Amino acid sequence: MTQRKTYDLLIRDTTVLEPSGASFTFVAGRDVAIAGSRITAIEPTGNIPVDTASKVVDGRNQVTLPGLINAHAHSAMVLLRGVAEDVTVESWFNDHIWRLETNLMPEDAYWGMKLAAAEMIRGGVTGVADHYFFMDDIAQACREVGLRAHLAPTMFGQNPDEELAQARTFVERWHGAGDGLIQAWLGPHSPYLCSGAFLRDVLTEAKATGVGVHLHVSETAQQVQASLETHDLTPPQYLDSLGLFEVPVLVAHAAHATSEDITLLSRAGAGVAHCPKTFLKLASGIVNVTEMLEQGVHVGLGTDGAASNNTLDVLEQMRLMALLQKHERHDATVLTRFEALRVATQGGAAVVRQADRLGRIAVGYLADLITVRLGGLHLQPLHDLAAALVYSAYAADVDTVIVNGRVLMEGRRLLTIDEAEVLEQVTRRAARIRDQVPQGQLQIFPS
Ligand SMILES: [Zn+2]
Repeated sequence: MTQRKTYDLLIRDTTVLEPSGASFTFVAGRDVAIAGSRITAIEPTGNIPVDTASKVVDGRNQVTLPGLINAHAHSAMVLLRGVAEDVTVESWFNDHIWRLETNLMPEDAYWGMKLAAAEMIRGGVTGVADHYFFMDDIAQACREVGLRAHLAPTMFGQNPDEELAQARTFVERWHGAGDGLIQAWLGPHSPYLCSGAFLRDVLTEAKATGVGVHLHVSETAQQVQASLETHDLTPPQYLDSLGLFEVPVLVAHAAHATSEDITLLSRAGAGVAHCPKTFLKLASGIVNVTEMLEQGVHVGLGTDGAASNNTLDVLEQMRLMALLQKHERHDATVLTRFEALRVATQGGAAVVRQADRLGRIAVGYLADLITVRLGGLHLQPLHDLAAALVYSAYAADVDTVIVNGRVLMEGRRLLTIDEAEVLEQVTRRAARIRDQVPQGQLQIFPS
């Protein structure tokens, strides 16, 4: 009879990122032990006998980090990667995306999510906050893959009762599913497309079901102007007037938040998902992340969809965030590499309201961990590990990805996704979606 081991998994002889006040330290020669879904011991290498673990991951010449959280994505939009390039944001929505999305079928979303999950896991992402259609199919894909997911079914409020009823069914079916991997959120699109009455109904539903609200806010200067003209309030002030911040709120973008808005978001405890590459590409403005962090707003990194970002690479977002803040402020000392690492780890966890169990390597925290290879020529010599991670590392340097204690990638090999099958499905479906004549348009982006 084989004896049950103390640990399910042991990352052996690795360097661990540990928060230390406002900064971080990197501690070499550590073993991280995992039992079930949690981190249960962090010890100097040698203290934990190797034979007490069912499986051992060799952590030598690698740094172990909390898994990256993609705090705002439309994952299945990988199906539309490259269909709307070098166009204005209005044209991006109205001439391309909201037309082609009428061609989507539920199974497309399922396979799109699988491709997105494969790309994200290969880039060290262990959790995603997603906002899209066909959420049952997306949840199914995430559960099968083992990716942590905060899923908000997109609602425009065109058929309010029906959309809310569907969202309620989604919450009942999926909130906490997959051993807690799946968390449900409500996903009204935005204050510029949803009516005040609908947003109030969403708030009532969020309170009744005990879930948060994930929506797009202040994406363009024009949206802020229109809100001021209609409500005499900025979009965050308007949401506040509706009482929305009485529940957990995940704000995507807030690119044009004023200083007063930032104070409001901080006081409300709202999380902001910062998606710099999409905003650069659509020339939609730069988020004042520096002031948000100064005012104590929870900021995480998102990719938005691959139809605007082109990749789902959170490491790339971290790098762009730091560079953009320095550029915008004409000050090379702002948004330091340590602050960037904090946003990418603890920030993302706070934005999805799981800071008490994600975003840190600590005993009792969930085992959502990644290891990053340090042997690449572009990282040598390693004078400054934080700088190497923020300014030099590629997604392809990620070696091993663990979510909820389960290994999803080892030595860059995906263990829960059949890449060939996903590619075959996505290639066929993407051609159909692109070539079929669209049945109208989902929405109209105001210009
Ligand atoms: Zn978005």
